[in-house]
Amino acid sequence: MARLVEAINRNDRLYYVEARPVVSDADYDRMYEELLALEREYPQFKDPNSPTVRVSGAPIEGFAQVRHEPPMKSLDKCYEKGDLVQFDTFLRREMPAGSRWRYVVEPKVDGVSISLLYEGRRLVRAATRGNGEVGDDVTQNVRTIRSIPKTLPDDAPDALEVRGEVYMTRDGFVQLNESLDEAGRQTFMNPRNACAGSLKLLDPKIVAARPLDVVIYNAGGVGCDGFATHTEMIAAFKRWGFPVAPWSRLAETVDEAIAAIDELGESRHAFRFEIDGAVLKVDERALYGGLGATAHSPRWARAYKYAPERVETVLRGITVQVGRSGVLTPVAELEPVELAGSVISRATLHNADQIAEQDIRVGDHVWLVKAGDVIPAIDGVLVEKRAEGVKPYVFPSVCPACGERAERLEGEVAVRCVNPGCPAQLQRRLEHFAGRNALDIKALGGRVADLLVEKGLVKDPLDLFSLDFEALKSLDVGEAGAPRKFGRNALNMRDALEAARGLPLDRWLFAVGIPNVGATVARDIAAEHDRFSSLAGSSVLKNVIANDALKGKARKILPIKAEAAKSVLAFFESRYGEAFLARMHELGLDPRRAETPSVKTTGPLVGVGCVLTGTLSRPRSEYAKLIELAGGTVQSAVTSKTRYLIAGENVGAAKTEKARALGTEVIDERRLLELLGDVAPVGVEPPAPSPAQTPEDRKPVQATLF
Ligand code: AMP
Ligand code: ZN
Repeated sequence: MARLVEAINRNDRLYYVEARPVVSDADYDRMYEELLALEREYPQFKDPNSPTVRVSGAPIEGFAQVRHEPPMKSLDKCYEKGDLVQFDTFLRREMPAGSRWRYVVEPKVDGVSISLLYEGRRLVRAATRGNGEVGDDVTQNVRTIRSIPKTLPDDAPDALEVRGEVYMTRDGFVQLNESLDEAGRQTFMNPRNACAGSLKLLDPKIVAARPLDVVIYNAGGVGCDGFATHTEMIAAFKRWGFPVAPWSRLAETVDEAIAAIDELGESRHAFRFEIDGAVLKVDERALYGGLGATAHSPRWARAYKYAPERVETVLRGITVQVGRSGVLTPVAELEPVELAGSVISRATLHNADQIAEQDIRVGDHVWLVKAGDVIPAIDGVLVEKRAEGVKPYVFPSVCPACGERAERLEGEVAVRCVNPGCPAQLQRRLEHFAGRNALDIKALGGRVADLLVEKGLVKDPLDLFSLDFEALKSLDVGEAGAPRKFGRNALNMRDALEAARGLPLDRWLFAVGIPNVGATVARDIAAEHDRFSSLAGSSVLKNVIANDALKGKARKILPIKAEAAKSVLAFFESRYGEAFLARMHELGLDPRRAETPSVKTTGPLVGVGCVLTGTLSRPRSEYAKLIELAGGTVQSAVTSKTRYLIAGENVGAAKTEKARALGTEVIDERRLLELLGDVAPVGVEPPAPSPAQTPEDRKPVQATLF
């Protein structure tokens, strides 16, 4: 068991910190399963630090208090470069005569400060800063953060405390908010709040699914003596497996340090964590003692805060949008202002609570920020500027689109329109259905989806498949006063829908728009099912719910999956879901799981590279799929590794010449179908051979193919 714990921890580190895994996922899963089994059989030998604790920890009752020794201090902050020069002057005065030092410049990570304590080279405690003297014991939650080493190598001190910052990645924050939003739950204002909120969760299983990471940048109370410089100490932390700041600079003078701060300022939006400033530290640790600290902060460091990207503007109005699940989302309509490089006139207000909490009123002067550097959000009201007579905002109690009652469902923050026939919901669902990660029907963009619903032509996304496309050509899709015919785009839409029939299960599952089923979840679920119809009442999904986190492929099971599995099953059990499936059946639709070309080792085109060009009689994507089914790969351009160039109509001679020069055979559709052998589907009619083809290309096609 000890060996397994060690091996799993080592592999976690290789995978999550160093990003160079040395064992396959399958081997990792086997080790994990074996350890789980042993722990179940011999609970008395279970290591409290076992990696299995990460996902199986029982909910926490509350947080114990931890006293920090020495206290976890904050940093003195400044907002002007001149203050850094003064800081340098101050140090020169305070330091013993003849002292020499350099500065280290580090990013100021905007997260939650954390202390990690190791005893016997094992993580025994993690605590938040709290008030600096006393913080919360969040060990269970912090254990779920994969990049934090749970054990340390032999050359690390037996007892060690390090300090740093836990953060939520910016991408992860955006995704988390999207899925919370989708599930009708409260979203977070920014990555820091999301991080703090995650660490305070009582269920470590949920924390495990949160995109948290850490940067270690400070010494703790034990095990950190004996380093001459901060730089050396950080290098040792890194060696022992701690994630450290991916960027830092050594500077000989304060001017050099300021230049480094500017350099960091330029690139700060490119980091995976939010950076709200730079920290200037004296590198020579021997000088720290003489300088000492104030009650608030050490004297050997200073934080420089970048100018906050926050602007004042006026809230002109609040519009309420209806999402595809009926959630009403308030949106701030703002006096346009520039913020962090773009002009912003709208910002999300999340939900009714958020507006009430901040007491945001139409007509108010408000602060605008970018949460997670991307999403414009309102960050407070300038109450002193509020005009007289400005009334508190009242959230609508009816749907602005259909006028039906809007309700707040039990346990949800969101207010929803509960009308299943709400046109706004249908429009959003159509848009989602046609989206790039769904069925990718570009012609349905812009006003078209709205129009189809308005005109009563579409009452359900599947109605798209029985539209009269000829008639649609004359649909006016222009703006008021500027009529424009849908025209040729109607046929593009028809073609895209035809192509959509051949799209794999994951795309369809995502397109349906089931709550909690984003594109990634859809892919995971699809990988375990043959076809769309097998999702209804799926035992795989039932098992996911039953097993939740404990069993199975530990690395892959996320708490959201149980939720997602429930949602999918609920969808197919619902009256709508049943009708949807029946309708799919009528339309001859039962999308299948995507074939993964890399695992194909049999088939008539194994290892054969193909390029499709020119006008073909069926969509290229369809041929691509067939080629992959036959074991071949589809390339985007002819290279020396291309065996066949499948040329449709209108292919220039230059292109075929070039291909031939590279040793590629130029063939037509008919020949391709021949090559596909059994893989060519019944009913695929190749076009009649065109006269331009060589006799060799006109070989008779085997009857069995068709
Ligand atoms: P503030 O939270 O704004 O009072 O700033 C002080 C905090 O910045 C410290 O307590 C640390 O949690 C945090 N911090 C972030 N990055 C660093 C860093 N590189 N070095 C020291 N402290 C940092
Ligand atoms: Zn409605």
